[in-house]
Amino acid sequence: MTYIRINATFLIIFVIMQVKFIGATETVTGSKHLVQTDKGFNILLDCGLYQGMGKETDSLNRHLGFNPSEIDVVILSHAHIDHSGNLPLLVKQGFLGSIYCTPPTLEVVEVLLLDSAKIHEYDIEYVNKKREQRGEDPIEPLYTSKDVEHCLKHFKTVPYHADFHLNEEVSFMFTDAGHILGSAAINLKLKDSNKNITHLTYTGDVGKYNDMLLKDPECFPLADYIICESTYGDRLHELDVDAELHLLNVVRNTCVEKKGKLIIPAFSLGRTQEIVYILDKLKNKKLLPNIKVYVDSPLSTNITDIMRENVDCFNEKLQEYIKTDADPFGFSNLKYIREKEESMALNTSQEPCIIISASGMMDAGRIKHHLANNISNPKNTVLIVGYCTPNSLGGKIKAGEKEVKIFGEFHEVNANIEIIDSYSAHADYSELIKFLSCQDKSKVKKIFLVHGDLEAKISFKQKLMAEGYKEVILPNKTETFILS
Ligand SMILES: [Zn+2]
Repeated sequence: MTYIRINATFLIIFVIMQVKFIGATETVTGSKHLVQTDKGFNILLDCGLYQGMGKETDSLNRHLGFNPSEIDVVILSHAHIDHSGNLPLLVKQGFLGSIYCTPPTLEVVEVLLLDSAKIHEYDIEYVNKKREQRGEDPIEPLYTSKDVEHCLKHFKTVPYHADFHLNEEVSFMFTDAGHILGSAAINLKLKDSNKNITHLTYTGDVGKYNDMLLKDPECFPLADYIICESTYGDRLHELDVDAELHLLNVVRNTCVEKKGKLIIPAFSLGRTQEIVYILDKLKNKKLLPNIKVYVDSPLSTNITDIMRENVDCFNEKLQEYIKTDADPFGFSNLKYIREKEESMALNTSQEPCIIISASGMMDAGRIKHHLANNISNPKNTVLIVGYCTPNSLGGKIKAGEKEVKIFGEFHEVNANIEIIDSYSAHADYSELIKFLSCQDKSKVKKIFLVHGDLEAKISFKQKLMAEGYKEVILPNKTETFILS
């Protein structure tokens, strides 16, 4: 809304179609973008949690930066917590509208939000113990499982490619962004009071082409404005090494030659299923040695079940594979572990085996126990297959630290540390340019770059300008732009 004060008595309020950037401007977390029509209809694109921002994180998450009761609808691009994780707080603080997403996103987001609530509830116990020692009052968790249950009642699903009308002025369509199961670009069609139509696309996070499991990111309708992610705006992925052969060699070396354990920290959503799928293929080719494989994570187990039920989201190759092997995420030596006792039993087992466990950055979850028990034994291997922030436990192990602190105790890193860097859920800059290439450059008025650090965004802006896009903007937090 724009206000012009004429004098002390008269205040003229103009409502102009606009977009305001609230989160994920200087970072890759906390995605929140607010679109307002000239009739004052407020559409929030994503409502993500800030993560890994140090002491500021909690305060950034508790203050949304707008009044939740003034938001009419939320449209969610995908289930990752940095895009969805603050929806329970939004509802708790007074949001009354609907939250739209694709059907697979709802299945995944339900599991992830309940997991997120559990983490907040668990973390706050520790914080409150410390506060009590200092004589301070306890604080509430950001949200609880109950808040998540309330929030889930607001969700409504819209399938890919359906033209969905929110009212006479606003409609939207989801197109596949190929990033995770259910991920979508949000293509908004906004009609102003003069019946002029503006097309705005929010890419959400964009996946890479030729993903192991998912379809390629798809073309999206011609847009006037694009809010584009830029996580890898300054990077090209390593050329795909033969991930299958690399993994097989690590398995043979660790579990057959040294009779050790292979520990694979992996994100519950995507990376775990990719690793299991490779092992499944190796098993079918009769190349996988006869050893036990464990996926030790209730969250990964739940998400794998959801993946199995969404075969239509898989790429053609995987759909073909399923014709010969109905379960690409299951084979005779593989066991999914939910129970804590079964997980703990792995600590005392001396048998060579593969343990895939979350979290991918090794800062939380059962993987910490497996690392504490196995990282000091030179017979074992830790295989890092995903991005780890430098300050995380995974980041320190990846950087080659010789001693790491787990659960307050130091452990020597004697295990072999292997890295396969070719896995990623994000497009690199050449893939982002390919993704945008379905657009008419003369029609695109502005591209706003979000979800990237400053260097990535500056570098990507230069590349897009060189490609011939007219205006590329790096919005600051709370900055507003008129859409005309
Ligand atoms: Zn994502």
